[in-house]
Amino acid sequence: MLVLGVGALGSLAADLLARAGIGHLRIVDRDVVELTNLQRQVLYTEADVDAPKAEAAARRLAALNSEIAIEALAKDFNGRTYADLLQGIDLAIDGTDNMEARLLLNDACLKLGIPWIYGGAIATNGMVLPVRPDAGPCFRCMVPEAPPPGSLPTCDTAGILNTVPAAIAGLQVTLALRELVGSPAPPKLYVLDVWTMEFQKLELKRRRDCRACVRREFDFLAAAPREVLATLCGRDAISLDPLHAGTIELGPLSERLMKLGKVRTAGSVLVFEGDGVALTVFPDGRALIRGTSDPDRAKALYAKYVGR
Ligand SMILES: [Zn+2]
Repeated sequence: MLVLGVGALGSLAADLLARAGIGHLRIVDRDVVELTNLQRQVLYTEADVDAPKAEAAARRLAALNSEIAIEALAKDFNGRTYADLLQGIDLAIDGTDNMEARLLLNDACLKLGIPWIYGGAIATNGMVLPVRPDAGPCFRCMVPEAPPPGSLPTCDTAGILNTVPAAIAGLQVTLALRELVGSPAPPKLYVLDVWTMEFQKLELKRRRDCRACVRREFDFLAAAPREVLATLCGRDAISLDPLHAGTIELGPLSERLMKLGKVRTAGSVLVFEGDGVALTVFPDGRALIRGTSDPDRAKALYAKYVGR
């Protein structure tokens, strides 16, 4: 089983799945742990700060159930990587935090015939939707196009009660277990408000002209690769993936950067601080640049310190 994104929902879902004894878990997340994550991302402790979330999550899950196989991949899920990241996967759990990532996961799972469980949580409410490749509505039937950035409330602008992800991840894992035992729940949008205690089951129909599940035109998989992957939700940070990156030897890079600022390692990544920014470099060439929200400055900093 794949857990894509181990933030609040993904942490809780992965924890429940590992304790339930799901034999094989693949954890994929492109981000690193930050101190502010600890309020609701239950797999991490202060000792994990700066380490890739996928690695810290896998370490914790392996410690709580040594009988299961856990793979940690600190990678970005996109049109170039989805086939590898979904290889051999029978079901995927959505632990992402934005609509575009879900539309991409929806396309990938429909194309490869893999069921997946959407989950979203904000403020005091959340929702889940089981998506099956062969029948019922898909995520794009509900959200036909990616909303423009900044148009939806995010956890940073609207806040979130930390009991909401617990409740929603519990529903996601229940739907996943039902799928695995061959007793899938009806494909409805299940909406819960933990404050008012209202629970709704909304009927969703497959749209007759849905570009994903009906026409099978997987726009989000075909999107041109981008160098700047994201200006990260509410943070002064940029995720950068040079189009021609390969494996980076972090040892020699670390020696070079030591002359220019502070360098440390956290899990498999290298963290450099200098120029008023913090640069986290992953072995696959990707980088998180904190301290700027300007993509051009991020690219310039990457070129200056990492090269290429
Ligand atoms: Zn659809």
